Amino acid sequence: MEKIIDEKQQGNSLVMEPQSGNGKKLMIESYGCQMNFSDSEIVASILAKEGFNTTQSLEEADLVLINTCSIRDKAEQTVRKRLEKYNAVKKINPGMKVGVLGCMAERLKAKFLEEEKIVDLVVGPDAYKDLPNLINEVEEGRNAVNVILSKDETYGDISPVRLQSNGVSAFVSITRGCDNMCTFCVVPFTRGRERSRDPQSILEEVNDLAAKGFKEITLLGQNVDSYLWYGGGLKKDFKNASEIQKATATNFAGLLKLVAEAHPKMRIRFSTSNPQDMTLDVIETMAKYPNICRYIHLPVQSGSDRILKEMNRLHTREEYFELIDNIRKLMPDCAISQDMITGFPTETEEDHQDTLSLMEYVKYDFGFMFAYSERPGTMAARKLKDDVPEEVKKRRLTEIVNLQQEHSHYRTKQFLGKTVEVLIEKESKKSNLHWSGRTTQNTVAVFPKENYKVGDFVNVKINDCTSATLIGEAVGYSENN
Ligand code: SAM
Repeated sequence: MEKIIDEKQQGNSLVMEPQSGNGKKLMIESYGCQMNFSDSEIVASILAKEGFNTTQSLEEADLVLINTCSIRDKAEQTVRKRLEKYNAVKKINPGMKVGVLGCMAERLKAKFLEEEKIVDLVVGPDAYKDLPNLINEVEEGRNAVNVILSKDETYGDISPVRLQSNGVSAFVSITRGCDNMCTFCVVPFTRGRERSRDPQSILEEVNDLAAKGFKEITLLGQNVDSYLWYGGGLKKDFKNASEIQKATATNFAGLLKLVAEAHPKMRIRFSTSNPQDMTLDVIETMAKYPNICRYIHLPVQSGSDRILKEMNRLHTREEYFELIDNIRKLMPDCAISQDMITGFPTETEEDHQDTLSLMEYVKYDFGFMFAYSERPGTMAARKLKDDVPEEVKKRRLTEIVNLQQEHSHYRTKQFLGKTVEVLIEKESKKSNLHWSGRTTQNTVAVFPKENYKVGDFVNVKINDCTSATLIGEAVGYSENN
């Protein structure tokens, strides 16, 4: 999820429909956030045009691309380990070329080639259209690097191939980069400044997905609420736009309305929201259209005003509560999830207690919680000492994870005895006799298969639950079918 894609999917290699090609096989593995998985689909689309077919077997690959994440040190270590594995295979198949894509490529640039001798190709998130040229360079025996960040690249003109898709839900990227400059975060450095994609190209992609039978889309961006299309260019340059550009600009609420009205039966999700940018008109638009899912991922990172300030999160605890209250007022059934960081520099026990009390107030449906990991080059790394001992970070993390578990269970229990609409996505991991899908609140529900199939909208009566899963039985198709 992300937010962070399901742990079990991390590193999955992705495959597309076979096609006649140049006889070369590409293996592409993705780590990190949903954006990376979505970017890998763009990369696959660019290379499919060059005649590449995909494979899931490293031994079979002519080109291996690894789409990387830099968000925490652990994410980078995972990639380094994977490169060791590639190295072993390269000894057997010296012709195999290895490319590093994404945030780690952008962060380390040409240094990657020195540090990891097996890497032939280093490509940042805004340079994927250059891949065919770069691959030619590599084939001619030279290493190739392109880590130029762009002012206007949104890949809006590329229709992504869907990799390892269930044919039911798909990601649609709407913004790239981030301008928020949270002091802990490496994203503005690895993904560049924020820019939005043309709403027409977004709509065309959604139309295409609908025509192919997809039932759910997730609009993706590092900070979707900040979406602003005024004819192209960086968000920060909007102030210099002409009067006509300003008057005809589309914001996130406008985009949601456009997509929701064009496809009233399509479930629409989005991620990630930033509290400082989420405006009332977004909540009102959600409330107005039942096909916009009742779920907001609303990272807060800390419940302490002092720490929020140190993190350069541009809102207070009170303002966050106000936002939560507004969401609950307009959509009482809306699920809310969080991201939290424990052990940010200078965090005291009192700050930590503020985080716990904020969680008590919101009672999130679920959450993604992390111990602070200092990232080179960020403002926090430059200005603040990473002074919370590792065991304290871990202990605080355990406390918030345990509290979240209680709240998640509290939330799932509210569904007991109720009948909810579930979109079937796949077979349950635990039983081949059960389907697994999600409610509009993004909660996983499992139930006996009967004659239903993947992609059906089914009403499910909930009889039991764990903290993460609703367990029930189908009582018929929903109206949305
Ligand atoms: N753009 C989103 C936002 O600002 O809320 C999410 C960006 S990030 C890909 C996902 C999550 O990773 C963040 O919300 C944060 O909780 C976590 N994260 C980011 N930098 C981190 C760091 N240096 N140490 C630990 N966790 C971090």
